[in-house]
Amino acid sequence: MIINAEGIVLRQRKIANNRRMIVLFTKQYGKLSAGTSVNEKSRSKAALALRPFTYAEYDIFKGRDAYSINSAQVNKSFYSIGEDIDRFINASAFIEYLDKVLEEGVPAPKLFDLSLEFLQSVSECRSGTDTLLYAFIVKTFRMLGVAPELGCCVNCGKAPEKFGGGFKIFSVTDGGIICPDCAEEEKRAGDSLLYRPDFDIITVFRYFESKPIKTFEKVDLKPEVRNEVREILSEYTERYLGVDVLKSISGLEV
Ligand SMILES: [Zn+2]
Repeated sequence: MIINAEGIVLRQRKIANNRRMIVLFTKQYGKLSAGTSVNEKSRSKAALALRPFTYAEYDIFKGRDAYSINSAQVNKSFYSIGEDIDRFINASAFIEYLDKVLEEGVPAPKLFDLSLEFLQSVSECRSGTDTLLYAFIVKTFRMLGVAPELGCCVNCGKAPEKFGGGFKIFSVTDGGIICPDCAEEEKRAGDSLLYRPDFDIITVFRYFESKPIKTFEKVDLKPEVRNEVREILSEYTERYLGVDVLKSISGLEV
């Protein structure tokens, strides 16, 4: 049976007989691994569709227990990502993140659309590409069922309004904001994943959640905000999704 799918390449490796195994994130079938004898280095249309940061249409033969890419056609190539180190680093972290959070054969069409938005924005972004990556990651939390609690203390349920000026303490361990009383207790218990940022973490998270990715093409976070956001997201994704793509790129920031 031949199936047709839109997709982006997550990774590839050489296998026997001059063939390659391509891992695709497809809109219709989720993540799938398919073999192909199309040579990536050739100049054919199908070869172009196997390059990184390309959105393409694939004709895939579905055998009894394996997929094989017969042909492919580029819908859009985000080649400008490869021309800028900042774009390249953040887009590569995005690909690694997708590869780790997606389950083989489970469609995630909303996440797919969001991924295309991300690629489009990264390819046009002039500075601060990391903000796009943070926004993307925060947006995926709800889709992946691991959204943090931002409405009330995740521990005791008290609303921030009950504390006059509200509160802005974030507990990675508990998965959301936490009131000063509970924070005191956790601190005594030795919770090291408690963050007390100087900025309003609820507003920042909600901002990432609610605005389209495109908005963040022009948003450059202050260094202290960006560092703390990265640290919180890094710990959070590691704890709830078992993936941490932010730690590896943190050393590259100026
Ligand atoms: Zn509480």
